[in-house]
Amino acid sequence: MIGVCVLGATGSIGDSTLDVIARHADKYRVVALTANTQVNKMLQLCQKFKPSFAVMASATAAEELQSQLRVLALDCEVLSGDEGLAYVAAHAEVAYVMAAIVGAAGLSPTLAAARAGKRILLANKEALVMSGKLFMDEIHNSGAELLPIDSEHNAIFQSMPVDFSLGLTAAGVRRVLLTASGGPFRTKTLAQLESVTPEQAVAHPNWVMGRKISVDSASMMNKGLELIEACWLFDAKPEQVQVVVHPESMIHSMVEYIDGSVISQMGNPDMRIPIAHAMAWPQRMTSGDQGMNIFEVAQLNFERPDEVKFPCLRLAREAIEAGGTAPAVLNAANEVAVDAFLEHGLPFLEIPKVIEHTLEQSTVLEADSLDIIFSEDQCARVLAQRYIQQVS
Ligand code: NAD
Ligand code: MG
Repeated sequence: MIGVCVLGATGSIGDSTLDVIARHADKYRVVALTANTQVNKMLQLCQKFKPSFAVMASATAAEELQSQLRVLALDCEVLSGDEGLAYVAAHAEVAYVMAAIVGAAGLSPTLAAARAGKRILLANKEALVMSGKLFMDEIHNSGAELLPIDSEHNAIFQSMPVDFSLGLTAAGVRRVLLTASGGPFRTKTLAQLESVTPEQAVAHPNWVMGRKISVDSASMMNKGLELIEACWLFDAKPEQVQVVVHPESMIHSMVEYIDGSVISQMGNPDMRIPIAHAMAWPQRMTSGDQGMNIFEVAQLNFERPDEVKFPCLRLAREAIEAGGTAPAVLNAANEVAVDAFLEHGLPFLEIPKVIEHTLEQSTVLEADSLDIIFSEDQCARVLAQRYIQQVS
Protein backbone atom coordinates (compact mmCIF):
# COMPACT_ATOMS: atom_id res chain seq x y z
CA MET A 1 0.00 0.00 0.00
CA ILE A 2 1.25 3.47 -0.90
CA GLY A 3 0.73 6.01 1.90
CA VAL A 4 -0.67 9.35 0.72
CA CYS A 5 -0.87 12.75 2.40
CA VAL A 6 -3.36 15.19 0.86
CA LEU A 7 -2.47 18.80 1.69
CA GLY A 8 -5.60 20.87 1.01
CA ALA A 9 -7.95 17.87 1.18
CA THR A 10 -11.15 19.93 1.39
CA GLY A 11 -10.57 21.89 -1.82
CA SER A 12 -11.37 21.21 -5.44
CA ILE A 13 -8.11 19.33 -6.14
CA GLY A 14 -8.49 17.56 -2.77
CA ASP A 15 -11.94 16.33 -3.89
CA SER A 16 -10.63 15.03 -7.21
CA THR A 17 -7.64 13.36 -5.53
CA LEU A 18 -9.79 11.56 -2.97
CA ASP A 19 -12.17 10.49 -5.73
CA VAL A 20 -9.24 8.85 -7.57
CA ILE A 21 -7.90 7.29 -4.35
CA ALA A 22 -11.33 5.85 -3.50
CA ARG A 23 -11.32 4.06 -6.87
CA HIS A 24 -7.99 2.41 -6.01
CA ALA A 25 -8.38 1.64 -2.33
CA ASP A 26 -6.39 -1.57 -2.81
CA LYS A 27 -3.31 0.44 -3.81
CA TYR A 28 -3.36 3.71 -1.82
CA ARG A 29 -3.92 4.42 1.85
CA VAL A 30 -4.74 7.92 3.09
CA VAL A 31 -2.26 8.57 5.91
CA ALA A 32 -2.93 12.29 6.41
CA LEU A 33 -5.49 14.90 5.39
CA THR A 34 -5.12 18.64 5.93
CA ALA A 35 -7.41 21.66 5.66
CA ASN A 36 -7.60 25.29 6.63
CA THR A 37 -10.76 25.76 8.72
CA GLN A 38 -13.47 23.49 7.26
CA VAL A 39 -14.13 21.21 10.25
CA ASN A 40 -17.36 19.63 9.01
CA LYS A 41 -15.96 18.61 5.67
CA MET A 42 -12.81 17.29 7.33
CA LEU A 43 -14.89 15.24 9.74
CA GLN A 44 -16.73 13.62 6.83
CA LEU A 45 -13.43 12.86 5.10
CA CYS A 46 -12.01 11.32 8.28
CA GLN A 47 -15.06 9.06 8.56
CA LYS A 48 -14.67 7.94 4.97
CA PHE A 49 -10.88 7.62 4.60
CA LYS A 50 -9.79 6.91 8.21
CA PRO A 51 -6.46 8.78 8.04
CA SER A 52 -3.92 8.39 10.85
CA PHE A 53 -3.52 12.20 10.96
CA ALA A 54 -5.76 15.21 10.35
CA VAL A 55 -4.20 18.66 10.35
CA MET A 56 -6.11 21.94 10.57
CA ALA A 57 -4.27 25.20 9.86
CA SER A 58 -6.02 26.90 12.76
CA ALA A 59 -5.66 25.65 16.35
CA THR A 60 -9.32 26.42 17.12
CA ALA A 61 -10.47 24.36 14.16
CA ALA A 62 -8.15 21.54 15.28
CA GLU A 63 -9.71 21.53 18.78
CA GLU A 64 -13.19 21.44 17.33
CA LEU A 65 -12.29 18.56 15.00
CA GLN A 66 -10.63 16.68 17.87
CA SER A 67 -13.75 16.82 20.03
CA GLN A 68 -16.03 15.75 17.17
CA LEU A 69 -13.74 12.82 16.31
CA ARG A 70 -13.89 11.76 19.96
CA VAL A 71 -17.68 11.67 19.85
CA LEU A 72 -17.45 9.34 16.85
CA ALA A 73 -14.69 7.29 18.57
CA LEU A 74 -12.48 7.71 15.51
CA ASP A 75 -8.81 7.02 16.09
CA CYS A 76 -7.07 9.90 14.33
CA GLU A 77 -4.34 12.19 15.64
CA VAL A 78 -5.23 15.87 15.17
CA LEU A 79 -2.45 18.40 14.67
CA SER A 80 -2.42 22.07 13.75
CA GLY A 81 -0.47 24.90 12.17
CA ASP A 82 2.66 24.95 10.00
CA GLU A 83 4.39 22.42 12.25
CA GLY A 84 1.58 19.94 11.92
CA LEU A 85 1.52 20.38 8.13
CA ALA A 86 5.28 19.90 7.79
CA TYR A 87 5.18 16.88 10.12
CA VAL A 88 2.63 14.93 8.09
CA ALA A 89 4.16 15.98 4.73
CA ALA A 90 7.47 14.41 5.80
CA HIS A 91 6.06 11.44 7.76
CA ALA A 92 7.71 8.04 7.22
CA GLU A 93 4.40 6.34 6.38
CA VAL A 94 3.78 8.85 3.59
CA ALA A 95 5.23 8.11 0.14
CA TYR A 96 3.14 10.50 -1.99
CA VAL A 97 2.20 14.07 -1.08
CA MET A 98 -0.56 15.84 -2.98
CA ALA A 99 0.37 19.54 -2.67
CA ALA A 100 -3.05 21.17 -3.12
CA ILE A 101 -3.12 24.02 -0.63
CA VAL A 102 -3.90 27.28 -2.42
CA GLY A 103 -1.33 30.09 -2.39
CA ALA A 104 1.79 30.86 -0.37
CA ALA A 105 0.47 28.88 2.62
CA GLY A 106 1.40 25.72 0.74
CA LEU A 107 5.09 26.50 0.37
CA SER A 108 6.46 25.29 3.73
CA PRO A 109 4.72 21.89 3.82
CA THR A 110 5.47 21.24 0.13
CA LEU A 111 9.11 22.05 0.72
CA ALA A 112 9.10 19.75 3.76
CA ALA A 113 7.86 16.95 1.49
CA ALA A 114 10.60 17.78 -1.03
CA ARG A 115 13.29 17.64 1.67
CA ALA A 116 11.95 14.30 2.86
CA GLY A 117 12.32 12.84 -0.65
CA LYS A 118 8.63 12.13 -1.28
CA ARG A 119 6.82 11.84 -4.61
CA ILE A 120 5.27 15.30 -4.85
CA LEU A 121 2.10 15.69 -6.87
CA LEU A 122 2.29 19.44 -7.41
CA ALA A 123 -0.95 21.38 -7.84
CA ASN A 124 0.12 24.31 -5.63
CA LYS A 125 1.85 26.29 -8.40
CA GLU A 126 2.33 29.31 -6.12
CA ALA A 127 4.87 27.33 -4.05
CA LEU A 128 7.09 26.75 -7.08
CA VAL A 129 6.59 30.30 -8.39
CA MET A 130 7.74 31.71 -5.05
CA SER A 131 10.74 29.52 -4.42
CA GLY A 132 11.79 28.36 -7.94
CA LYS A 133 15.45 27.40 -7.76
CA LEU A 134 15.40 26.65 -4.02
CA PHE A 135 12.52 24.23 -4.55
CA MET A 136 14.11 22.48 -7.55
CA ASP A 137 17.43 22.19 -5.66
CA GLU A 138 15.66 20.53 -2.72
CA ILE A 139 14.03 18.06 -5.12
CA HIS A 140 17.35 17.18 -6.75
CA ASN A 141 19.29 16.97 -3.48
CA SER A 142 16.79 14.71 -1.72
CA GLY A 143 15.95 12.52 -4.72
CA ALA A 144 12.27 13.45 -4.44
CA GLU A 145 10.05 12.95 -7.50
CA LEU A 146 8.15 15.95 -8.80
CA LEU A 147 5.07 15.22 -10.90
CA PRO A 148 2.99 18.13 -12.20
CA ILE A 149 -0.76 18.08 -11.54
CA ASP A 150 -1.55 21.39 -13.23
CA SER A 151 -3.26 20.04 -16.36
CA GLU A 152 -0.99 21.97 -18.75
CA HIS A 153 2.23 20.92 -17.04
CA ASN A 154 1.04 17.36 -16.74
CA ALA A 155 0.35 17.46 -20.50
CA ILE A 156 3.81 18.90 -21.17
CA PHE A 157 5.35 16.20 -18.96
CA GLN A 158 3.49 13.53 -20.93
CA SER A 159 4.60 15.07 -24.25
CA MET A 160 8.28 15.51 -23.28
CA PRO A 161 10.98 12.98 -24.17
CA VAL A 162 12.05 10.82 -21.21
CA ASP A 163 15.47 12.51 -21.06
CA PHE A 164 14.18 16.11 -20.88
CA SER A 165 16.12 16.68 -17.66
CA LEU A 166 19.29 16.82 -19.81
CA GLY A 167 18.06 20.19 -21.05
CA LEU A 168 15.46 21.03 -23.69
CA THR A 169 17.93 21.63 -26.55
CA ALA A 170 19.82 18.40 -25.86
CA ALA A 171 16.51 16.56 -25.80
CA GLY A 172 15.53 17.98 -29.21
CA VAL A 173 12.78 20.28 -27.92
CA ARG A 174 12.31 23.67 -29.61
CA ARG A 175 9.57 25.12 -27.44
CA VAL A 176 6.58 24.51 -25.26
CA LEU A 177 3.10 25.62 -26.32
CA LEU A 178 1.27 26.37 -23.07
CA THR A 179 -2.48 26.40 -23.70
CA ALA A 180 -4.93 28.69 -21.92
CA SER A 181 -8.72 28.59 -22.05
CA GLY A 182 -8.79 32.39 -21.99
CA GLY A 183 -11.10 32.26 -18.97
CA PRO A 184 -14.65 33.59 -18.61
CA PHE A 185 -13.77 37.07 -19.94
CA ARG A 186 -11.95 36.11 -23.14
CA THR A 187 -14.49 37.75 -25.43
CA LYS A 188 -15.27 40.79 -23.25
CA THR A 189 -14.03 44.24 -24.26
CA LEU A 190 -11.75 46.27 -22.04
CA ALA A 191 -14.70 48.59 -21.29
CA GLN A 192 -16.85 45.62 -20.22
CA LEU A 193 -14.06 44.34 -17.96
CA GLU A 194 -14.35 47.52 -15.87
CA SER A 195 -17.53 46.34 -14.17
CA VAL A 196 -17.15 42.53 -13.96
CA THR A 197 -17.99 40.99 -10.58
CA PRO A 198 -16.38 38.21 -8.49
CA GLU A 199 -19.44 36.04 -9.21
CA GLN A 200 -18.82 36.35 -12.96
CA ALA A 201 -15.09 35.76 -12.52
CA VAL A 202 -15.48 32.48 -10.62
CA ALA A 203 -17.86 31.02 -13.22
CA HIS A 204 -15.23 29.37 -15.44
CA PRO A 205 -16.50 28.01 -18.78
CA ASN A 206 -14.60 24.68 -18.70
CA TRP A 207 -13.22 23.93 -15.24
CA VAL A 208 -14.68 23.81 -11.71
CA MET A 209 -12.00 25.18 -9.39
CA GLY A 210 -11.36 27.06 -6.14
CA ARG A 211 -12.17 30.79 -6.04
CA LYS A 212 -8.60 32.11 -6.14
CA ILE A 213 -7.49 30.13 -9.21
CA SER A 214 -10.79 30.99 -10.91
CA VAL A 215 -10.06 34.71 -10.57
CA ASP A 216 -6.49 34.04 -11.74
CA SER A 217 -7.94 32.36 -14.83
CA ALA A 218 -10.16 35.34 -15.47
CA SER A 219 -7.23 37.79 -15.24
CA MET A 220 -4.89 35.35 -17.01
CA MET A 221 -2.51 35.58 -14.05
CA ASN A 222 -3.06 31.83 -13.83
CA LYS A 223 -1.29 31.53 -17.19
CA GLY A 224 1.40 33.92 -15.97
CA LEU A 225 2.02 31.76 -12.89
CA GLU A 226 1.98 28.68 -15.15
CA LEU A 227 4.56 30.24 -17.47
CA ILE A 228 6.88 30.60 -14.46
CA GLU A 229 5.97 27.10 -13.28
CA ALA A 230 6.86 25.68 -16.72
CA CYS A 231 10.24 27.44 -16.72
CA TRP A 232 11.18 25.75 -13.43
CA LEU A 233 9.68 22.33 -14.08
CA PHE A 234 11.21 21.91 -17.54
CA ASP A 235 14.24 24.16 -17.23
CA ALA A 236 12.88 26.33 -20.04
CA LYS A 237 13.71 29.96 -20.81
CA PRO A 238 10.66 32.26 -20.80
CA GLU A 239 11.03 32.79 -24.56
CA GLN A 240 10.79 29.01 -25.08
CA VAL A 241 7.24 29.05 -23.69
CA GLN A 242 4.54 30.32 -26.05
CA VAL A 243 1.11 30.90 -24.54
CA VAL A 244 -1.71 29.80 -26.88
CA VAL A 245 -5.35 30.58 -26.16
CA HIS A 246 -7.39 27.45 -26.88
CA PRO A 247 -10.97 28.02 -25.69
CA GLU A 248 -12.13 24.36 -25.86
CA SER A 249 -9.57 23.18 -23.21
CA MET A 250 -9.24 19.79 -24.89
CA ILE A 251 -5.56 20.04 -25.79
CA HIS A 252 -3.85 20.59 -22.45
CA SER A 253 -0.52 21.85 -23.91
CA MET A 254 2.03 20.82 -26.53
CA VAL A 255 5.75 20.27 -27.02
CA GLU A 256 7.34 21.27 -30.33
CA TYR A 257 10.49 19.41 -31.38
CA ILE A 258 13.38 20.66 -33.56
CA ASP A 259 12.20 18.47 -36.46
CA GLY A 260 8.83 20.27 -36.48
CA SER A 261 6.85 17.51 -34.72
CA VAL A 262 4.32 18.78 -32.20
CA ILE A 263 3.21 16.32 -29.51
CA SER A 264 0.24 17.09 -27.28
CA GLN A 265 -1.92 15.47 -24.64
CA MET A 266 -5.69 15.74 -25.01
CA GLY A 267 -8.63 14.82 -22.83
CA ASN A 268 -11.70 16.13 -21.10
CA PRO A 269 -11.14 19.04 -18.71
CA ASP A 270 -11.24 16.75 -15.65
CA MET A 271 -8.47 17.08 -13.05
CA ARG A 272 -8.81 13.41 -12.13
CA ILE A 273 -6.92 12.63 -15.37
CA PRO A 274 -3.61 14.36 -14.47
CA ILE A 275 -4.03 13.21 -10.84
CA ALA A 276 -4.41 9.54 -11.84
CA HIS A 277 -1.52 9.92 -14.29
CA ALA A 278 0.83 11.35 -11.67
CA MET A 279 -0.16 8.83 -9.01
CA ALA A 280 0.23 5.79 -11.27
CA TRP A 281 3.26 7.05 -13.23
CA PRO A 282 5.05 5.41 -15.01
CA GLN A 283 2.07 3.09 -15.21
CA ARG A 284 -1.54 4.02 -15.98
CA MET A 285 -4.73 3.55 -14.01
CA THR A 286 -8.38 4.56 -14.38
CA SER A 287 -9.33 8.07 -13.22
CA GLY A 288 -13.13 7.94 -13.38
CA ASP A 289 -13.18 9.95 -16.62
CA GLN A 290 -15.18 8.24 -19.35
CA GLY A 291 -13.02 9.54 -22.21
CA MET A 292 -13.58 12.42 -24.62
CA ASN A 293 -16.13 12.33 -27.39
CA ILE A 294 -14.03 13.65 -30.26
CA PHE A 295 -17.07 14.02 -32.54
CA GLU A 296 -18.76 16.26 -30.00
CA VAL A 297 -15.58 18.34 -29.66
CA ALA A 298 -15.55 18.71 -33.48
CA GLN A 299 -13.51 21.93 -33.55
CA LEU A 300 -10.34 23.15 -31.92
CA ASN A 301 -9.48 26.85 -32.03
CA PHE A 302 -6.28 28.74 -31.27
CA GLU A 303 -5.62 32.47 -30.69
CA ARG A 304 -2.80 34.71 -29.57
CA PRO A 305 -3.25 36.03 -26.01
CA ASP A 306 -4.32 39.69 -25.71
CA GLU A 307 -1.83 41.31 -23.34
CA VAL A 308 -3.56 44.68 -23.50
CA LYS A 309 -6.73 43.25 -21.98
CA PHE A 310 -4.79 40.84 -19.78
CA PRO A 311 -1.54 42.54 -18.63
CA CYS A 312 -0.95 39.91 -15.90
CA LEU A 313 0.68 37.67 -18.48
CA ARG A 314 3.25 40.35 -19.32
CA LEU A 315 3.86 41.07 -15.63
CA ALA A 316 4.57 37.39 -14.95
CA ARG A 317 6.98 37.16 -17.89
CA GLU A 318 8.79 40.29 -16.66
CA ALA A 319 9.00 38.81 -13.15
CA ILE A 320 10.59 35.53 -14.24
CA GLU A 321 12.98 37.47 -16.48
CA ALA A 322 13.94 39.70 -13.53
CA GLY A 323 14.48 36.51 -11.48
CA GLY A 324 15.33 36.29 -7.75
CA THR A 325 12.48 37.35 -5.50
CA ALA A 326 10.44 39.06 -8.28
CA PRO A 327 8.11 36.07 -8.87
CA ALA A 328 7.46 35.81 -5.09
CA VAL A 329 6.57 39.53 -5.03
CA LEU A 330 4.31 39.11 -8.07
CA ASN A 331 2.58 36.17 -6.40
CA ALA A 332 2.08 37.92 -3.05
CA ALA A 333 0.69 41.10 -4.64
CA ASN A 334 -1.63 38.97 -6.77
CA GLU A 335 -2.92 37.07 -3.71
CA VAL A 336 -3.70 40.34 -1.93
CA ALA A 337 -5.34 41.87 -5.02
CA VAL A 338 -7.46 38.76 -5.70
CA ASP A 339 -8.64 38.69 -2.05
CA ALA A 340 -9.62 42.36 -2.29
CA PHE A 341 -11.46 41.76 -5.58
CA LEU A 342 -13.31 38.75 -4.12
CA GLU A 343 -14.36 40.93 -1.15
CA HIS A 344 -15.76 43.53 -3.59
CA GLY A 345 -13.01 45.92 -2.43
CA LEU A 346 -11.15 46.30 -5.75
CA PRO A 347 -12.30 46.59 -9.39
CA PHE A 348 -11.14 43.73 -11.64
CA LEU A 349 -8.96 45.93 -13.86
CA GLU A 350 -7.06 47.17 -10.79
CA ILE A 351 -5.64 43.68 -10.11
CA PRO A 352 -2.71 44.05 -12.57
CA LYS A 353 -2.17 47.63 -11.40
CA VAL A 354 -1.71 46.50 -7.79
CA ILE A 355 0.82 43.92 -8.97
CA GLU A 356 2.71 46.29 -11.26
CA HIS A 357 2.90 48.96 -8.55
CA THR A 358 4.14 46.42 -5.97
CA LEU A 359 6.82 45.10 -8.35
CA GLU A 360 7.97 48.68 -9.10
CA GLN A 361 8.28 49.42 -5.36
CA SER A 362 10.28 46.24 -4.61
CA THR A 363 13.97 45.53 -5.10
CA VAL A 364 14.85 42.20 -6.65
CA LEU A 365 16.96 40.13 -4.23
CA GLU A 366 18.60 36.72 -4.60
CA ALA A 367 15.96 34.15 -3.63
CA ASP A 368 18.47 31.86 -1.95
CA SER A 369 16.76 31.25 1.39
CA LEU A 370 13.23 30.67 2.58
CA ASP A 371 13.65 33.57 5.05
CA ILE A 372 14.31 36.03 2.22
CA ILE A 373 11.42 34.68 0.16
CA PHE A 374 8.96 34.95 3.06
CA SER A 375 10.18 38.39 4.12
CA GLU A 376 9.81 39.69 0.53
CA ASP A 377 6.39 38.04 0.37
CA GLN A 378 5.37 39.93 3.54
CA CYS A 379 6.76 43.29 2.31
CA ALA A 380 4.93 42.84 -1.00
CA ARG A 381 1.67 42.18 0.87
CA VAL A 382 2.06 45.42 2.84
CA LEU A 383 2.84 47.42 -0.32
CA ALA A 384 -0.11 45.90 -2.17
CA GLN A 385 -2.50 46.59 0.74
CA ARG A 386 -1.32 50.18 0.95
CA TYR A 387 -1.87 50.72 -2.77
CA ILE A 388 -5.36 49.19 -2.57
CA GLN A 389 -6.27 51.55 0.29
CA GLN A 390 -5.07 54.52 -1.76
CA VAL A 391 -7.11 53.65 -4.85
CA SER A 392 -10.30 52.58 -3.09
P1 NAD B 1 -9.50 25.41 -3.16
O1 NAD B 1 -9.69 26.80 -2.70
O2 NAD B 1 -10.67 24.66 -3.66
O3 NAD B 1 -8.83 24.53 -1.99
C1 NAD B 1 -7.73 24.99 -1.28
C2 NAD B 1 -7.36 24.04 -0.16
O4 NAD B 1 -6.29 24.65 0.59
C3 NAD B 1 -8.48 23.77 0.85
O5 NAD B 1 -8.40 22.44 1.31
C4 NAD B 1 -8.16 24.73 2.00
O6 NAD B 1 -8.64 24.26 3.24
C5 NAD B 1 -6.65 24.74 1.96
N1 NAD B 1 -6.09 26.01 2.49
C6 NAD B 1 -6.45 27.26 2.10
N2 NAD B 1 -5.75 28.18 2.81
C7 NAD B 1 -4.95 27.49 3.66
C8 NAD B 1 -4.01 27.87 4.65
N3 NAD B 1 -3.77 29.16 4.94
N4 NAD B 1 -3.37 26.90 5.33
C9 NAD B 1 -3.62 25.60 5.07
N5 NAD B 1 -4.50 25.17 4.16
C10 NAD B 1 -5.16 26.10 3.45
O7 NAD B 1 -8.35 25.47 -4.30
P2 NAD B 1 -8.09 24.45 -5.49
O8 NAD B 1 -8.84 24.88 -6.69
O9 NAD B 1 -8.23 23.04 -5.01
O10 NAD B 1 -6.55 24.75 -5.81
C11 NAD B 1 -5.51 24.28 -4.99
C12 NAD B 1 -4.18 24.52 -5.67
O11 NAD B 1 -4.15 23.76 -6.89
C13 NAD B 1 -3.96 25.98 -6.10
O12 NAD B 1 -2.61 26.30 -5.97
C14 NAD B 1 -4.35 25.99 -7.56
O13 NAD B 1 -3.67 26.98 -8.31
C15 NAD B 1 -3.91 24.60 -8.00
N6 NAD B 1 -4.63 24.07 -9.15
C16 NAD B 1 -5.98 23.88 -9.09
C17 NAD B 1 -6.67 23.40 -10.19
C18 NAD B 1 -8.15 23.13 -10.14
O14 NAD B 1 -8.71 22.64 -11.13
N7 NAD B 1 -8.83 23.40 -9.06
C19 NAD B 1 -5.97 23.13 -11.38
C20 NAD B 1 -4.59 23.35 -11.42
C21 NAD B 1 -3.93 23.82 -10.30
MG1 MG C 1 -3.61 24.89 -15.25
